[in-house]
Amino acid sequence: MEQQSIVVQESTTDDNELQELLRALIKKGISELRPTLDKHAIRYVTAEEAWNVDSAHAKNTIRTLEERGLLKPEPIGRALTCPKCGSPEVHSKYACPKCMSQNVEFTELLEHTKCGDIGARASFTKGSLLTCPRCNTILTNKSVDYRVIGNFFQCEKCGHRFDKPDVLHICQNCGTTSSYQEAKYIRIFSYKIADETLKDFQKELPILKNVKKALVDNGFKVQLQAKITGSSGVQCPFDVLAEKNAVRLVIDISTTGDKNDIIALLAKKVDVSPTEAIMIDLSNLDALASLGKVFGIVVFKTPIGQNLPDGFQSFLASLNPKDKMRKTAIPGGG
Ligand SMILES: [Zn+2]
Ligand SMILES: [Zn+2]
Ligand SMILES: [Zn+2]
Repeated sequence: MEQQSIVVQESTTDDNELQELLRALIKKGISELRPTLDKHAIRYVTAEEAWNVDSAHAKNTIRTLEERGLLKPEPIGRALTCPKCGSPEVHSKYACPKCMSQNVEFTELLEHTKCGDIGARASFTKGSLLTCPRCNTILTNKSVDYRVIGNFFQCEKCGHRFDKPDVLHICQNCGTTSSYQEAKYIRIFSYKIADETLKDFQKELPILKNVKKALVDNGFKVQLQAKITGSSGVQCPFDVLAEKNAVRLVIDISTTGDKNDIIALLAKKVDVSPTEAIMIDLSNLDALASLGKVFGIVVFKTPIGQNLPDGFQSFLASLNPKDKMRKTAIPGGG
């Protein structure tokens, strides 16, 4: 039975795409997205980097993944944010409740025990000494010569005295000043990839490991989750990049057998011109294998759980003669 959920009107909510986004995180070893507060926004930097998107886009995507139950939110606290621009970099200041001046001083109210004069500490201060402003006695001994009656704020602009100042929040990004009623005191979350999803994806990882090992055993330098800048200037990500002398292999894994996976690989292949572009297809569908022939992409159909694609070793061995030919082609080589 298919459950029809309310579809947000966005083209980026296709299920396969969402799976790919999660896969991009898991392949980088990320199972949880934690927020960072910077001047402009509350951000999920690991997601931005894994998906190569800006912070607003990353947050939209996280919301979609959460709606689909693929990410589980965990409240981790609250943050004060600017009501205008959303920046969490907000500094607080005290203000006079009467004239709103931020020039307020927290001070003590002192009483000269002998003559009974009462005033703010500032009115008793003369240089480094405390002196009663009424009788000019120098007061040295706290609780004998004088006592502290209490504390209060005093406005240096209008002279108003008060117990509690107004609190103002000043955004360090856009400069907006907000009161405690206006500022947003929002919940912040970290997001975890649901355990069952994580387990599903981790099934793919052994094949990556084994493919890497086979390549290394054959003398290749191997990088997982590598990015190569193509001739168009765009960075092309590959699940595996393997290089040996002049041979460069790029490998992507498709778990769903979706033809978009091989189309994406074709686009990258055109851009980076590898020796061979290889697709390891973990689905039990046939679409990619037939498209591979048309696109000039080597497709290895491999059931999930199999250690290494059938024929992978002999494929690598078949690359070696070419390898040698290239070497002997170098002029002056013996
Ligand atoms: Zn006095
Ligand atoms: Zn004032
Ligand atoms: Zn702001």
